[in-house]
Amino acid sequence: MDAFEYNAAPGRVIFGSGTLSKLASEVSRLNLSAPLLLSTPQQVSEASKLEKLLDGKVAGIFAEATMHTPSGITAKALDYAKSTKADSVISIGGGSTIGLGKAISIRTGLPHICIPTTYAGSEMTPILGETQDGKKTTRSDPKILPGTVIYDVDLTMTLPSSMSATSGVNAIAHSVEALYAKNTNPIINLLALEGIKSLASSLPTIVSTPSDVAARHSALYGAWLCGTCLGAVGMSLHHKLCHTLGGSFNMPHAETHTIILPHALAYNAPNIPEVMKKLADVLPGSDGDAIKGLNLLLARLKVKRGLKDFGFKEEDVDKAAEIAVSNPYWNPRPVEKGPITELLRRAWAGEEAR
Ligand code: NAD
Repeated sequence: MDAFEYNAAPGRVIFGSGTLSKLASEVSRLNLSAPLLLSTPQQVSEASKLEKLLDGKVAGIFAEATMHTPSGITAKALDYAKSTKADSVISIGGGSTIGLGKAISIRTGLPHICIPTTYAGSEMTPILGETQDGKKTTRSDPKILPGTVIYDVDLTMTLPSSMSATSGVNAIAHSVEALYAKNTNPIINLLALEGIKSLASSLPTIVSTPSDVAARHSALYGAWLCGTCLGAVGMSLHHKLCHTLGGSFNMPHAETHTIILPHALAYNAPNIPEVMKKLADVLPGSDGDAIKGLNLLLARLKVKRGLKDFGFKEEDVDKAAEIAVSNPYWNPRPVEKGPITELLRRAWAGEEAR
């Protein structure tokens, strides 16, 4: 075994069904008395439920969380937190709401309790992406990591099947790239493979039967492990391409991850034979071929496969490739404009990866 370094993130996790009932005791354990509740406009009823659970002892509800954490919304939320004398933030929702919680917490030092309702994994990372004047910047700081995460499987039962599918593949992508990260290690490999296995086996069931409780448990557990991988080691080609497509072309987050993953993996495959074998072992129906397993999974999830399905234009393929190769980063295979352009063209057209 090669020498390695492993940094454990100091988060506290409460996992299961009905775990939201532990929120009040968690708030008092942390000696907090005025949490500001955060949600998107679509999930304000979830924030109201938290207010009831806490007997109304909250600073208020701020229900304007938005994708990519725009600076204007953060400024408004910060003003509200100050005016209501909030002593903490509680975010309930997906990566967008959790991002707002992180943005407030890192600027104020307020403790952050996270209650995730998608599989995106932001709750397990010390990473924050924010946008100002249409430009997305990302930073990492151990202080960004939320102090407590409450995973309540019951909250994921309402996640529509199509979103469950793409959000779940978004999580799988974190683990796939963790397996070949430059700073990967045996502990992260264990978490990554267990995370992929849990999601790959449960997502097809969720798509056909969204109310399947056992599958929902397995998917959320997998999402937690995959989020841990994202927070622990460096990401490469796949995440950089998705960052480009989301940041510069406003493509939807989870759907873009879902389309790009098999293509990014196929691009790197010649340089990561051991990882491809490990992946094939945890992808049902792969017959020893991880790309085949991933294509099969996406077919069973009935997800859209082409960037063009989300308004991406063929003439932007070249521009996206140019941006994606302009900032050098580590990747198991050199990132070259020609093959990356072809990768993006195939992803645009919705062709199968091979
Ligand atoms: P999201 O948070 O944008 O949620 C999408 C929509 O689904 C919202 O309207 C939300 O209210 C709704 N929703 C969420 N959970 C629901 C549920 N259980 N039932 C019904 N509706 C529900 O989507 P996301 O994919 O979770 O997050 C994407 C954002 O998170 C992006 O901005 C991305 O960059 C960021 N992200 C950051 C990290 C990180 O480590 N910093 C990791 C992953 C994602």
